[in-house]
Amino acid sequence: MQVDYLVIGQGLCGTWLSWFLTTENRAFIVIDDNESITPSKVSAGIINPVTGRRMVRVWMAEQVLSFAHEAYSEIGNFLDITAISQKNIIDFFPNAHQRQVFLERIEEGESYLSSYPEQNQFNSFFNYDLGCGEIRHSYIAHVELLLPAWRESLKNNGRLRAERFDFGKLIIKEQCVEYGDVIAEKIIFCDGLSSVENPFFKQLPFAPNKGETLIVEISDLPNEHIYKKGFILAPLKQKGVFWFGSNYQWSFPHTEPTDGFYEQAERHLKAWLKIPFKILDHKAALRPATLERRPFVGLHPQQKHIGILNGMGTKGCSLAPYFARQFVNHLLYEKELAPEADIRRFSRMLARQ
Ligand SMILES: Cc1cc2nc3c(=O)[nH]c(=O)nc-3n(C[C@H](O)[C@H](O)[C@H](O)COP(=O)(O)OP(=O)(O)OC[C@H]3O[C@@H](n4cnc5c(N)ncnc54)[C@H](O)[C@@H]3O)c2cc1C
Repeated sequence: MQVDYLVIGQGLCGTWLSWFLTTENRAFIVIDDNESITPSKVSAGIINPVTGRRMVRVWMAEQVLSFAHEAYSEIGNFLDITAISQKNIIDFFPNAHQRQVFLERIEEGESYLSSYPEQNQFNSFFNYDLGCGEIRHSYIAHVELLLPAWRESLKNNGRLRAERFDFGKLIIKEQCVEYGDVIAEKIIFCDGLSSVENPFFKQLPFAPNKGETLIVEISDLPNEHIYKKGFILAPLKQKGVFWFGSNYQWSFPHTEPTDGFYEQAERHLKAWLKIPFKILDHKAALRPATLERRPFVGLHPQQKHIGILNGMGTKGCSLAPYFARQFVNHLLYEKELAPEADIRRFSRMLARQ
């Protein structure tokens, strides 16, 4: 079988890359082993325009946010699912300092932030003594609907191989790559943290970051907003069910969920919520973060048939569609990649095998 592209992985990166290849009528095959726990499957899907304690704008906020909204809406229409919802974040100030920072940022003219007019609206659901603000233009990408729906569409069109990719079977030729019966012009790795062992890209400065989350049933909590007080409560598509988390661990002895997080999260929920809740599940996954917190996008500087879309870190839901589109424009129309994301910045490192 002859195709233009062989895509390895169908997390957020592989989903978006294969979607834009579809919109460009390119022939491709996706190989994905359907691992049950991946960052894309554990993600909350939150697209938040501000970040950190200083509430600064995320990298490329203007371009990336509006692009994400458009892209998720389009793929959602195609698949007949709601792939994205606009849900502002109600930020309950965890301490006086954070309240001060939030109000200062409003005074500085940060248009994504506003002081919430109905300060008492959430009194029957939450304990919050220091008031709340609102983060506007934030979204939830419904990853739990999107990934299986896109997988099904790939399968129905004969474009999915549900198996583990084996480097031992890959043959790189002058004009193409061969993998079993597939001959492809290029192979693009969207294999998340498997790339730390990928012979072509293992030199890249990945910095895996572990995050844990609880899935919680809170039947009486309205699902119109995302709620935040240190941790985040984000509504999932199933009514009355919320995602709760997360933490960020740069060093960890193992990748499994821990009792420590479970106990801390349960304590937090008990102190914050005034209404009953039930913990349904507890998960952990590693974010494919990078040392300089920028993605890895592009073709290998020495191997023109081999590419990567990876390193989305904590922001895969918004960065993956944007950089997948950029990469497709680069592959098909020779458009430049953003230099901060282009893997040519690591040319010297990648030259060492
Ligand atoms: C707890 C947690 C919460 C998060 N919350 C958010 C959030 O709210 N908003 C946000 O923007 N980001 C969030 N993230 C980050 C986001 O999930 C990641 O940036 C994103 O999912 C990375 O997607 P990916 O496609 O690069 O990798 P992955 O999701 O790891 O996908 C890689 C895919 O490749 C497959 N694969 C790998 N190797 C092979 C192989 N050899 N053969 C076949 N298949 C293979 C895997 O099975 C997987 O399906 C969160 C992450 C975590 C852990």
